Amino acid sequence: MTTPVLTDTHCHLDAYDNPVAVLDDAHAAGVHVIAVTEDPGKYRLLRTRLGRRDGVDVALGFHPLRAGGASPHDLARFLRLLPQATWIGEIGLDFSRAGVASRKEQLRVFEAILADLQVRTRPVTVHSRGAERETITRLAQAQVPAILHWYTGPLAAVDNALAAGLWFSINPAMTRSKKALPLLQRLPPDRVLLETDGPFARCGNRSAVPSDLLGTLAHLAQVWGKSADEAHTAVTQNQQRLRGTDSGPLPT
Ligand SMILES: [Zn+2]
Repeated sequence: MTTPVLTDTHCHLDAYDNPVAVLDDAHAAGVHVIAVTEDPGKYRLLRTRLGRRDGVDVALGFHPLRAGGASPHDLARFLRLLPQATWIGEIGLDFSRAGVASRKEQLRVFEAILADLQVRTRPVTVHSRGAERETITRLAQAQVPAILHWYTGPLAAVDNALAAGLWFSINPAMTRSKKALPLLQRLPPDRVLLETDGPFARCGNRSAVPSDLLGTLAHLAQVWGKSADEAHTAVTQNQQRLRGTDSGPLPT
């Protein structure tokens, strides 16, 4: 049996200088890439650019910091593309300094997306900076078992997220952050997925790339007191549960 591939559940593939080279490197390392996008226009562009390439799913996104200047037409376009999207993201809320002014518009967009029942049947990767409780509450109400990507919110909200069936994706920058360690220790291994958030997240002095997932997994194995193989199995089983399947490797 082939080793099930790891999935980078949150990668801004279109923001690298050479997305195809990054994808080839990921494929060689046994990593499937979820290429998140920031708006429906970029989703369509990236899908066209990558064609029917192996090892990647392009995710339909509407970044919260884009919601401020968005028109009803943009939202309608997102909802129209939803039936053909295999992954959703990134969507979410950002009430940090960068986003607090567009709070109302962000909520309108996020709530409209979550109200569409199709969102429940697809993996969804979610941004929640500075708005963790608001994000978790809305995902719980909508019963969308989404992935909280690069969670930096209060530890006290983690139990609510777990009770709502949410997942957490961990990236290389988090494994190097002292601040993130209590979160890694708190999360049950059966709710953890991997991401890079590359090229924005750093791995040392360079941008993170999907093949860095192997190092992240080694770090998690240490935190969990598991062998590398056991950690690999735990994460790939999570990936399969996320997709509602437990048979064999993910399609590449
Ligand atoms: Zn991102």
